[in-house]
Amino acid sequence: MDSSLKNKVILVIIDGLKYQTAIEQCGFLEALVESKQARRMKMIAVLPTLSAPIYETLHTGLEPLEHGITSNDNLRESKFENIFTIAKASGLVTAATAHSFFSTLYNEDPYIPIRDQEVNDPDKAIQHGRFYSENGYTAFNIALPSDHDLMNQASMLVTRYEPHYLMIHSCSCDSIGHKFGGNSLEYSKQAWQVNDQLAQHIPFWIEKGYRILITSDHGFTDSGNHGGSSEIERWTPYYDIGHPIPGIASEDVSQLSVAPSILSILGLSIPKKMNAPLIDK
Ligand SMILES: [Zn+2]
Repeated sequence: MDSSLKNKVILVIIDGLKYQTAIEQCGFLEALVESKQARRMKMIAVLPTLSAPIYETLHTGLEPLEHGITSNDNLRESKFENIFTIAKASGLVTAATAHSFFSTLYNEDPYIPIRDQEVNDPDKAIQHGRFYSENGYTAFNIALPSDHDLMNQASMLVTRYEPHYLMIHSCSCDSIGHKFGGNSLEYSKQAWQVNDQLAQHIPFWIEKGYRILITSDHGFTDSGNHGGSSEIERWTPYYDIGHPIPGIASEDVSQLSVAPSILSILGLSIPKKMNAPLIDK
């Protein structure tokens, strides 16, 4: 397979980044929208607005009630066709740098760090995986891997393996949001920081021929929580760098549309179960 072809996708999931904070703090992403290089949409999260259920929704196109991962505490290997398994089965190269939940969902359950933390295995759904956990830090779990290291690791994966599908997952906004709240200065500064790290890598990814999608799994309440159905928890940003119609979209989109849209960009067939409309259309 010639991996220099276009139709390669990077999906960045900024855990816990709410819509309004993205607009206010992510000036580099907004510059791409303003200069007509990207499209920004408001994406409506499925319920419950929790991470593991939504990671699976973003990759299977199914509601949590349908795919069955309804809590962060009933995590298990995915039972459905998803972006990673479909891409791998079609001979494409997959990669991720992400929380260990993604290793459990798509590579192997349970997550055993000395086996799973770093993988280069063509038989895995995530063939080139680099995973981190929230364990071993302070009582508040806010000392997660820095976004500087995370984005460098992502660009390392791009340079070494030229994956057709690369998923990057940053957990820092979620951790800071839980500690300080969704309207805190600390939370805003962390969103600024993620945007600033992306600003240093996105030009390289564009140069390498990637379509780059940036979103979050859920928003955040002012009191530092998520899981419910309020707008502040359900409204998430969706930036599409390379979308044929740049600018700010007037219509909202559903998280159910992400998986089929990515498969469409990758040139892969879409399973019948993924029946939400494509974001392109
Ligand atoms: Zn959280």
